[in-house]
Amino acid sequence: MQHVTVKGLVLRETVFGEADKLIDLLTESGIRTVGVRSARKPGSKYAAVTQAFSYGEFCLRQTGERFWLDSAVSVHLFFGVRQRLDALALAAYFSELIRKTATDQPQPQLLRLFLYCLQRLEQDDRPLEQIKGTFELRLMTELGMMPNLVCCASCMQYQPRGPIMRVAKADFLCADCADPEEITPDEIPVTQSTLQALRHVVFSDIDRIFGFRLKGTSLRLFAAYCERYTLYRLGTGFRTLKFYHDLNQPQDTEHG
Ligand SMILES: [Zn+2]
Repeated sequence: MQHVTVKGLVLRETVFGEADKLIDLLTESGIRTVGVRSARKPGSKYAAVTQAFSYGEFCLRQTGERFWLDSAVSVHLFFGVRQRLDALALAAYFSELIRKTATDQPQPQLLRLFLYCLQRLEQDDRPLEQIKGTFELRLMTELGMMPNLVCCASCMQYQPRGPIMRVAKADFLCADCADPEEITPDEIPVTQSTLQALRHVVFSDIDRIFGFRLKGTSLRLFAAYCERYTLYRLGTGFRTLKFYHDLNQPQDTEHG
């Protein structure tokens, strides 16, 4: 039997046995699935720290292939995220993205990215669309699938007017190099502010990743590109993403 102490974020809880549960824990060393005995009994000592989106220090015991929880100390429960359905839906989407892309290799940046995004969701000081796009595009970057955002793929111009993002080619063209009469479904024309924001997400340190402001059309295009790019690269849809969009649909219609 081996004991190990890890810091981790609970990605998901699953019912297991009579009164137990399994938690998927995102640690700096990848995802660990951990059994928690009697977690679903009333008054369970570790009920709060083992719920989804709780960040804590977990003492685990390994028997064979399986990890079991010995004890846990909460670091931050992200209670504010759980109080808002739209924020919670977005966190659930982030969780599904991570579970489908993380490996068992050490990926400490993924844990940091998730924590910074949860912090912003809790503080509620950035639009949800900004937090969502930032998570998606930086996740792609950390997984080695970043787009080339340095300059126009044809004429190498760094600061072009009317950049046109190309999803499949993972680059962009300036308005002079693209054929404006023939915008294909793969291409998303964006604003210069959008391009600057995309560059910030890809190139900045993770602790400064929210150091930009976007609104209106630029924000909408930023979010549209990040989602399209992510879904294209991963080649799959996400149940939690559909739920998030369904949830925000009435509000979108109301505003216009
Ligand atoms: Zn060009």
